[in-house]
Amino acid sequence: MPGFELFGESEKSQVQDVLDSGVLMRYGFDGMRNNHWKALELEAALSKRMKSKYAQLVSSGTAALTVALASAGVGAGDEVIMPTFTFVASFESILAIGAIPILVNVDDTLTLSPKSVESAITDKTKVVMPVHMCGSMADLGALKTICDKHNLLLLEDACQAIGGSYDGKPLGSYGDIGCFSFDYVKTITCGEGGAIITNNEQYKINADHYSDHGHDHVGNNRGTETHPFLGYNFRISELHAAVGCAQIERLDDFLSIQKKNYTVLRDALSPLSNITFRKVPKGGVENYSFISIFLPTTELAKKAHTALGEAGVDSCFYWFDNNWHYYKKWEHLTHKRSLGKLPQEVMNQLPDYSRSDFAKSDAWIGRTISCLVKLSWTDEQVVERATKMKEVLEKFV
Ligand SMILES: *Cc1c(COP(=O)(O)O)cnc(C)c1O
Repeated sequence: MPGFELFGESEKSQVQDVLDSGVLMRYGFDGMRNNHWKALELEAALSKRMKSKYAQLVSSGTAALTVALASAGVGAGDEVIMPTFTFVASFESILAIGAIPILVNVDDTLTLSPKSVESAITDKTKVVMPVHMCGSMADLGALKTICDKHNLLLLEDACQAIGGSYDGKPLGSYGDIGCFSFDYVKTITCGEGGAIITNNEQYKINADHYSDHGHDHVGNNRGTETHPFLGYNFRISELHAAVGCAQIERLDDFLSIQKKNYTVLRDALSPLSNITFRKVPKGGVENYSFISIFLPTTELAKKAHTALGEAGVDSCFYWFDNNWHYYKKWEHLTHKRSLGKLPQEVMNQLPDYSRSDFAKSDAWIGRTISCLVKLSWTDEQVVERATKMKEVLEKFV
């Protein structure tokens, strides 16, 4: 997955442009900047590639989720439905605006189960937030039907699946708002960075203002701009945006390398009768950043994961025991461990996750192993890896 593997001359030359002008900030300094507007350039490239009217860059993927929620008017006490299998950023962004993360089960897509989503809806629900984990997507058609029926916002976290598509639309562009991360380990990187895409002009305006202290960005004197509503600083720097300008040009090359490597692994493992692959919803095309498989049982998956490591197959993940990606290890959330007092709405409404039962998620995630698909492997290395994986995995029946 990581774009940093192929960091090179085009990234350096983009950054050098910014260093030469000396303007490291995305706003203002019009005279000094020698016509370099890297953040604006990257926003234009993103909205074109993602077939969305608008893009807004921010400082991280977590910031993108936070700004997306705020821009859509989500606030204190509103409920946001999210999966049990995701990155901690999902509930961090929800809690940051005083809203309530409502965890629901995942299914064999490794993302939100539409059935579980429907049964979690209350009169406080505002958003359904599928997280397209490990390069593939939620059943977006089913989720959209639910959102339309209950008048909810569909917010796609496409941080791990940039370049994938559903129903012919780039992931992130199918729902009302989509979010990307350009942190250092994502398919394309800015070092740190994130983005929101949307076709909704008001959300774009809100995101533009909110991510820069509420600045209205009218005129060319920051000091005299007004602030129509409260905001925050989630700006990206020109240096980071410059790296992204180079990387977005390479996205489709990265995707085809991932697909090629993924296909070698998949073809090698397909004959194994003890293994099935994560379900990709009809109409979906993965970005091939991971290959995710189910073993017959949790016990076998655990053992197989250890055996893969011992055989030298690196970068395979057993999410069930993972500190960051599965609800079981989120003690800071389940025990409400926060530095200061949490908002009253959160204290009152947050379900007691220390007692919750996500057996349906456990049944899938317990059996899952995901292996990263790298960009820098040689053809020989991929074949060698595929052979090794097959040899190891066929023993666990
Ligand atoms: C990486 C990631 C994020 C957060 O992105 P950062 O840029 O690291 O803040 C959010 N959601 C998912 C699914 C991610 O993988």
